[in-house]
Amino acid sequence: MANLDGKSPTTGARRGEQVLQRLREQPPTLWYGGEQIKDVTVHPATHNGVRSLARLYDLQWEQPDVMLYDSPTSGNKVGRSFLQPQTHDELRSISRAMKVWADATFGMMGRSPDYLNRAMTSYAAGAPYLAEADPRFGENARRYYEHLRENDLCLTHTLITPQANRSVNTARQADPYLAARIKEETDAGIVIRGARMLATLPISDEIMVFPSTLLKNQDEDAPYAYGFCIPNNTPGLKFLCRESVDYGRSHYDHPLGSRFEELDAVVIFDDVFVPWENIFLYRDVARCNQAYARTGAVVNMSHQVVVKNIAKTEYLLGLASLMAHTIAVEGFQHIQEKLAEIWVNAETMKAFLRAAEADATLDEWGVMRPAWDPLDAARNLYPRLYPRMVEIIQQMGASGLVAMPTEADVSGPLAEEIKRFFQAARADAHERIPLFRLAWDTAISAFGSRQVLYERFFFGDPVRMAGALVGSHQPQFAQLMDRVREFLKQAKDEAVAEASH
Ligand SMILES: Cc1cc2nc3c(=O)[nH]c(=O)nc-3n(C[C@H](O)[C@H](O)[C@H](O)COP(=O)(O)OP(=O)(O)OC[C@H]3O[C@@H](n4cnc5c(N)ncnc54)[C@H](O)[C@@H]3O)c2cc1C
Repeated sequence: MANLDGKSPTTGARRGEQVLQRLREQPPTLWYGGEQIKDVTVHPATHNGVRSLARLYDLQWEQPDVMLYDSPTSGNKVGRSFLQPQTHDELRSISRAMKVWADATFGMMGRSPDYLNRAMTSYAAGAPYLAEADPRFGENARRYYEHLRENDLCLTHTLITPQANRSVNTARQADPYLAARIKEETDAGIVIRGARMLATLPISDEIMVFPSTLLKNQDEDAPYAYGFCIPNNTPGLKFLCRESVDYGRSHYDHPLGSRFEELDAVVIFDDVFVPWENIFLYRDVARCNQAYARTGAVVNMSHQVVVKNIAKTEYLLGLASLMAHTIAVEGFQHIQEKLAEIWVNAETMKAFLRAAEADATLDEWGVMRPAWDPLDAARNLYPRLYPRMVEIIQQMGASGLVAMPTEADVSGPLAEEIKRFFQAARADAHERIPLFRLAWDTAISAFGSRQVLYERFFFGDPVRMAGALVGSHQPQFAQLMDRVREFLKQAKDEAVAEASH
């Protein structure tokens, strides 16, 4: 099968070295600390995160039966997160593959490429919905999905508008080009000017610029209503990265930050040209607002999220248990209560996943779609569970989370004292210190704090998600209100009957 350029052949599932090579040859335009990053594979802010990303791609080939399947069009082996499942078994095979990636980072790289692979796979399956507006858009989604799958590219995405004035909608900001908007339209494509607030994992190949679901008014908001994908080195596209939480320290000192830094960036569109071939949605507010739900993208992204939640919670349970065991606090009742709390959270997430897969049904596009309610429950619950579990690590670790020598200390002049004063009930200092450094990087460090913020917000504002949940479950709520009304009526009837005796 030939590539989009019609010349080079596609290769299917990539290995880590191919990921690095492409990032070197077609670098995303990242701005960091006032300078453009020339090569993300060597820059101190990005190279460790890039290496972990590449490692995920290598993992595909270490477990090909779990991670890959045969492309229906090219014969290439391709990543399983691109599968459009027809059966329950195929659906479960996707979550098994996603779990391999999630476990590899303890769920700390929420944007492992499967997250957006599931989104784009859904958009392609729901292409007829996009084609209702313009047949080209449906065809574009299918073609782009094949391009992504057959080249195994890695995506970032951006949805929300800059946080300037949230009391008015996008179109009513003081500067009409604050939020990225359509500046002009030509026979060849459109030009976008403005910014989008955030894209996690800018150390990637291409970007999905999704519709925001907050558009309100067809006429006013139409210039902000679009969906497209473009390469991260497209002229005029700039990623302004936040300060990295990989401080260049060793794996010993910063075990998580030195490995799993995904980075986040504001995305600036400086008159970026987007060809029609890359556009899936255009100036259609109602369709933009519906696209996530109708194509199944939100469900399939949530499917990945709940798998990540399981991996992350299992990691926290292992960490907390090992801490308790190491300093011999596992016998205290409140420690057991806290361990039980994490265990219950893990089982809750597993139950949501199992229910979503067991109750999956074929959707209108012929794809086996997980049941939404358990996933919706999971995405509304986890933003509260994760900060609480981090709090538990702090409560259990106490001063052990700050009384922590560095790698340099451990091999420095105080080595003997460290050996003596950092011993634990069931570990010597050399075992105890790395464990507590890991707990620190989970619960205290900048890396750990950013994870808490991520879990609170990455899938949307929890307040507005709850509002959407209540709005969409009104028929269920009404049914349950009737049950209560019926009980109250019966009670009243009984009282009247008793009074008349
Ligand atoms: C670490 C991290 C990574 C992220 N990665 C991505 C990404 O890769 N791609 C992407 O597109 N987005 C990403 N996001 C953005 C995420 O979708 C948003 O954070 C989320 O939707 C909330 O929007 P906001 O941050 O603009 O908050 P705001 O909307 O500015 O809200 C700020 C505060 O005001 C309140 N508020 C604002 N408006 C209302 C309202 N109408 N009603 C009630 N309360 C309101 C909120 O509840 C909140 O407390 C990421 C966020 C974080 C923190």
